[in-house]
Amino acid sequence: MKLSEVLAGKGRRVVTVSAKSSITDAIRTMQAEKVGAVLVPDSGECPVGIFTERDVVRMHAGGDRDFDALTVESRMTCSVVVGKLSMTVDEALGLMTQRRFRHLPVLEDGKLVGLVSIGDLVKVKLEETAQEAQALRAYITS
Ligand code: AMP
Repeated sequence: MKLSEVLAGKGRRVVTVSAKSSITDAIRTMQAEKVGAVLVPDSGECPVGIFTERDVVRMHAGGDRDFDALTVESRMTCSVVVGKLSMTVDEALGLMTQRRFRHLPVLEDGKLVGLVSIGDLVKVKLEETAQEAQALRAYITS
């Protein structure tokens, strides 16, 4: 299965915040939208940034406390790895596993068209496995 099909199933919604948003705003947005990452499309220094739950944990562990005053652009990841609509689920899972992140923005013609999480992809793999098992059971008993 390709990422285009995954996005067709889950929708192309991408939750964003502006680069100047505070960390508190980003955390509240993630909580309200029930997502683990926000994209920052209008960041001055890079075309797109990403800020995730993991960054919040890293900040807190590193002693950052003033989440109201700190901006997202000061703590986001700038060098974002992206996927394509034609990428397969297996390719995306391999990339995310190798690079150790759980969120992959998807681009088409240089434009952001969606984001898949590792949870979205594991769900697809579980469904595929269940369908294969059912087909094998049907074959064996027919
Ligand atoms: P995650 O596991 O997705 O919560 O992210 C772990 C770390 O990787 C965080 O510092 C994120 O900002 C960063 N990150 C998440 N997704 C990506 C991505 N697609 N490209 C580059 N960095 C990412």
